[in-house]
Amino acid sequence: MSKTRFIFCTGGVVSSVGKGLTVASIGRILKARGLKVAIQKLDPYLNVDPGTMSPYQHGEVFVTTDGAETDLDLGHYERFTDENVTRLSNVTAGQVYSEIIEKERRGDYLGNTIQVVPHITNEIKRRILLVGSKTDADVVIVEVGGTVGDIEGEIFLEAIRQLRTGLRRKDALYVHVTFLPHIGATGELKTKPSQHSVRELRSKGIQPQVIIARADYPVNKELTDKMAMFCDVDPEAVIPLPTAESIYDVPLMLEDAGLGQYIVDKLKLDVPAELDLSEWRATVEQMRAATGTLRVAIVGKYVALHDAYMSVKEALVHAAAACHQKLDIRWIQSDELEKGRHLEELETVDGIVVPGGFGYRGIEGKILAARFARQNRVPYLGLCLGMQVMCIEFARHVLQYEDANSTEFDEATAYPVISLMPDQENIQEMGGTMRLGEYPCHLLPESIAAATYGLPEIRERHRHRFEFNNLYRDIFQQQGMRFSGLSPDNTLVEIAELVDHPYMLGSQFHPEFLSRPNRPHPLFVGLVKAAVAARDARRESPGHTVAEKDL
Ligand code: GLN
Repeated sequence: MSKTRFIFCTGGVVSSVGKGLTVASIGRILKARGLKVAIQKLDPYLNVDPGTMSPYQHGEVFVTTDGAETDLDLGHYERFTDENVTRLSNVTAGQVYSEIIEKERRGDYLGNTIQVVPHITNEIKRRILLVGSKTDADVVIVEVGGTVGDIEGEIFLEAIRQLRTGLRRKDALYVHVTFLPHIGATGELKTKPSQHSVRELRSKGIQPQVIIARADYPVNKELTDKMAMFCDVDPEAVIPLPTAESIYDVPLMLEDAGLGQYIVDKLKLDVPAELDLSEWRATVEQMRAATGTLRVAIVGKYVALHDAYMSVKEALVHAAAACHQKLDIRWIQSDELEKGRHLEELETVDGIVVPGGFGYRGIEGKILAARFARQNRVPYLGLCLGMQVMCIEFARHVLQYEDANSTEFDEATAYPVISLMPDQENIQEMGGTMRLGEYPCHLLPESIAAATYGLPEIRERHRHRFEFNNLYRDIFQQQGMRFSGLSPDNTLVEIAELVDHPYMLGSQFHPEFLSRPNRPHPLFVGLVKAAVAARDARRESPGHTVAEKDL
């Protein structure tokens, strides 16, 4: 029997109360004791991965080092534990069912009836145990997506129930994250939905040992005691978790409420080191102590759902805190920008980020934002599509290639400055077929990119099919664009930057996935520093605002 312990985390009452953040935070407080932690998310939907879903359905698609397109909670896991996860950390019902059905077609089960129990449950259990054995973790934390009571989640609950019997009692702990609604008329928080949710969980054979009581208001002891009594949980194991000022407060709140020690005791963990959350506390302190305010626009197609840009937003938060700035993010809908709206707002920002995306809608608005940034010397960071847009804009307005475009948006363009990568040409299937995951990139010495990173070679995560068209490299370079990051074989442009601009840089990769609260990403720090300088210069000579408004 392996030494790995398992923490299974379910959600009750409603979704979107921060179960993923709670799981990530538990990871951090265990890691702070010197334990090796791995985290896994079980997603009950039938998509094989979220890569084919609209960001409006699902939020951001987080890309792992090994090129898996995964749930955005994995981004929280990486940011909070500062450990890179792999594709093993996201299991969907789609993956599990397709694997079993593939085996059945191959004839692996000849003669047998294939059933949800045991075939599907066994496959789920195998994948959970695999994370433990592959990572050699002391503790594997498993988050079950959705809320208890969802029909599609039942099979996952059954799998984690069964796992307990396969493990020693002290090897598994069940944590239930619930929500206490606030009744405006009486000003009270209510525990009844949480009690029902625990009852539902128990009807599946799972008795939680820990309840995390999320609420938008402080949760007093009377309420936690009441839940302890009705739900049969130790009073000290009902952990109140009122909405935090910053998500990075959550590990500290859980630790201060005694959760870390409770888990250590219950799982009889051999703790290798004294609890040390000092670095985390210092980071949170730094965020809180920020004095300046920096206004940064995120110009995207899915800005109505901020979760669609989760890692971008957090990377900005990390970089801003490192530069002692509080962030004022202006979310600008790119397709409205092209209709002439929000231009005044763009004029008030200190920096612009154009994040990744797919499809034509909103592209012209992003091009407009890039043009605005170039002409007015506003610091700009383009992420994947944001880099492609920056190149299209340069082609159209500097090189005068009037209808320059990406072949993603206009196959017939006379100037396909962005085009399909050769190895993407014959791909028919949509799922998991982009250029995905980590690749090395060489930086050009004497470039903004090299100065910003302070390194000659970097490794970054990708998710794209289209790429800068090398036929145009020379003319772009002659006219003021520098390709400061290239794949080691020189075939792919990974970073483009404007020579005559304080900071206008685009990366074909997604630097946002590598930013950590304690280690902000250099490209975001570069943007923030340039934006602070631009803001301060503007303050000093208020006449010098936007130079050209000829959009
Ligand atoms: N749609 C573009 C491509 O596939 C950009 C992708 C992205 O921004 N992640 O290349």
